[in-house]
Parts: sequence; C-alpha cells; structure tokens
Amino acid sequence: MKKISYSLALLAQVVALSAYAAPQWKPLDETRQEPPQVHSYHWTRNAAASHQLRNIVASSPNLLYHSGVVMGNVTIQPIFWGSGWNGGNQDIVNGISNFYYNYSSAPYSQLVKQYTDINGDVPGTTVNVENAIVDTSTSSTNVFNRVCAAVAQNTNLISAASKKSLYVPVYVDSARGNANYCGYHSAGTCGLVSGNKVTTVAVEFGFFFSLVNDAGCHTQLAPGETDQTLANLVNVTAHELSELLTDPATFNSNPPSVYNAYFGGWFDASGNEIGDKCAWKFSSSPQNIGGQNYFLQSEWSNLITGCANTQ
Ligand SMILES: [Zn+2]
Repeated sequence: MKKISYSLALLAQVVALSAYAAPQWKPLDETRQEPPQVHSYHWTRNAAASHQLRNIVASSPNLLYHSGVVMGNVTIQPIFWGSGWNGGNQDIVNGISNFYYNYSSAPYSQLVKQYTDINGDVPGTTVNVENAIVDTSTSSTNVFNRVCAAVAQNTNLISAASKKSLYVPVYVDSARGNANYCGYHSAGTCGLVSGNKVTTVAVEFGFFFSLVNDAGCHTQLAPGETDQTLANLVNVTAHELSELLTDPATFNSNPPSVYNAYFGGWFDASGNEIGDKCAWKFSSSPQNIGGQNYFLQSEWSNLITGCANTQ
C-alpha cells in the first residue's frame, strides 16, 4: 500500500480557483504479480524476456476480459516535468504531443478497438488532447502529486476526471538508472478543493523515464526520424496508451476510491496486458502517425492470436 501526501511546495503552485487535497494512490490489484508500488511496467529489452516466460503457463494465449471498464472516450494531458525540459527539448515535447494528437486517426489505433467492455464501450472512440504542460521545476519519480495539481488547474481535466476519462502521462527528466522498466501506467484519486467542499475524482496516469541514450528501451529510427530519444519515448508511449485504453483502472464506488478499484479490462491468464505480450517486437515497416514514421512495437490481437500493428 502506498499513500502520497501533498507537499507544501506543490500546493503553492495551485491557483486559487481549485486546490487539491491529499491524493490517494495504492497498487490496485495485488494479485497481478506486479511489483508493489505501481501497475503495469513496460519492461526493458532485457527484463521483458523473463517476464514473457509467464506466457508459457497461460491456459490461453489470448487476452481475457475481467469484467471492468475500458477507456472509450479519453482526454489526454501530457506533462513534461523537470529542469531537463528547460530549452533544447522542444522537438520531443512537440513529437510526443503530435503522436497523441494524431493517434486516433492512424491505422495503429484500430487494433485496440476489438477489446470492448460490458457497457459496449470501444477503446479510444474519441481522444481529446490538451496542450502539453512543460514544468521545469525539480521533478520527482513520485509523479501523482504533480498529476493532481495539473487536474485542479484545468476545468477540462476536472470535467474529464469526473467522467473517469482522464489520462495524464508524465515524462520526467530523470534517467532510468538501474530500474528494469521504461514506463508504466497506473491510477489514483485526486481530492479537488473548492471552498470547504472536497470532490474526489479518478485519474489514470502514466510515467516515463527520459530514455536518453537508453539501450534497454531503445527503438530503431524510422525514415525521417532524427531524434533517438523521441523515437524511444514514442514507442513506450504507444505501449502504455494501448494498455491504458484496454485496461484502465475500474473505480466502482461513488465517490471513487482506490480501495474499491481494480484493473478489470483485458489481460492474459498470466497478467500480461496488450503491450506486454508484444514488447520489443517490431514489424518490418514503420507506422505512420500524422505524417511521421515511427517504429512502434506490435500489440496483441486476439483476432489473429498474435502480435499485429493494426486490426
Ligand atoms: Zn505494459
């Protein structure tokens, strides 16, 4: 279990309109054999191989539905956090933003649409993207406080979160170091304060290391691509977005609580999500997202019982 209390430094950055109370965050499904503090790592090239061995004992190789929700409509708020984003990295901010802006019109986004839920929602039916936040204050790998601060400052985000349709991917400026994952997605709740009233909203979020010169999270450059770090980040971004859409947290209670939530979308009998099963497996041709080519890993398709790049 992990609980994050807010820091005074962050609170001071929040505008008067709407502060936030202490967010709650805990591992939402302790049966999934994920490491305790986060959900759904995107393992490095070396670590992915051992994690995929779990597939061998699976009764079916396909993804299974676990009675929760998928993300039909989603609002995405990218955050680039840390002094490392101060100047010189605008092409990465623009490149990641461009990927999100153009994702839903690319063939790549069609693959997740086979994974519907009990409400009939189709993953990624509508994707709204907010302008990226670049915050050059000192970053932390505990990003959920920063996520809640961003939510409290934007009524579009508050509205999306109140409909359980908000995803906040956070790109920090710190290197992976010895960590054996490139990124992850998880979820929590933010308490939004207005006067003496606290409204709790559910927020899905993602975490990404900087991946500069990172051989363990390395992706081949596609024709027209010039920035290796951007290429690495876009591939991990695509992995986490596919997983977020098909296996977000399901918050059952009203108001939402992390103590009454679970990951109930699509994953296989070993706990692997759509991206995990095909991590670091690339097709021979790049994906075109909004006019830019990227080598993106494949995602699991139940339709062909294998890895694919579109439906
Ligand atoms: Zn994953």
